[in-house]
Amino acid sequence: MGYRPALSMRWVFVLVVATATACGGLLRAGPTIPPLISARYLSVHLVMGDTADAQEKARLPALRDSLAGALPAAWATATQGRGQLFLRNEGDIDVELAGTNGTSALTQHTRGGKVTSRTITVHTIDGNRRLTIPDLMSTTLHELGHIWCCYGAGTSGGHWSDPQPTGFSLVGLMYPTIRCQASAGSEPVCPNVFSDRELTELRLGSP
Ligand SMILES: [Zn+2]
Repeated sequence: MGYRPALSMRWVFVLVVATATACGGLLRAGPTIPPLISARYLSVHLVMGDTADAQEKARLPALRDSLAGALPAAWATATQGRGQLFLRNEGDIDVELAGTNGTSALTQHTRGGKVTSRTITVHTIDGNRRLTIPDLMSTTLHELGHIWCCYGAGTSGGHWSDPQPTGFSLVGLMYPTIRCQASAGSEPVCPNVFSDRELTELRLGSP
């Protein structure tokens, strides 16, 4: 009898996260040229949506505060110490924590082939699950990653197109789905570090 991993004690769920959505047809009132965004020094404006149901409305302020408090250190960890993140009222990018059910996504508004603004919407409900901070943090890192990642060979729709390793790993944030691991009664553990090839896409390939 060989060793059998205690899979029955654990369960793995899959959180489906949207591909980056490019809204090429959306024109804005006036052209705004964003600064070149650097993963080394990224500023984020984190806001709450205002269309949540009563239960999410009650959760949102604490979720926002937790995310805001943890995001700078989480970005440093995710970028293997190569990037810094700051919360600002005028950030490089708006992240809206929406207390609604939906598929989280980065939306890019373009004009004349140039990106004029970017917004990330992070939904706090996925189907009938109300997401926890580890889910939301991993989703936020993934969507921020879409600012730079992933294009070109070996990618599809902003994600890696090669098969995702079946085992759970903390490393690797840009597959089409974010797989978290959870044990009953405790918060899930979710990927939180960009892989080396993702760091290269983020232009953080060297320290
Ligand atoms: Zn994605």
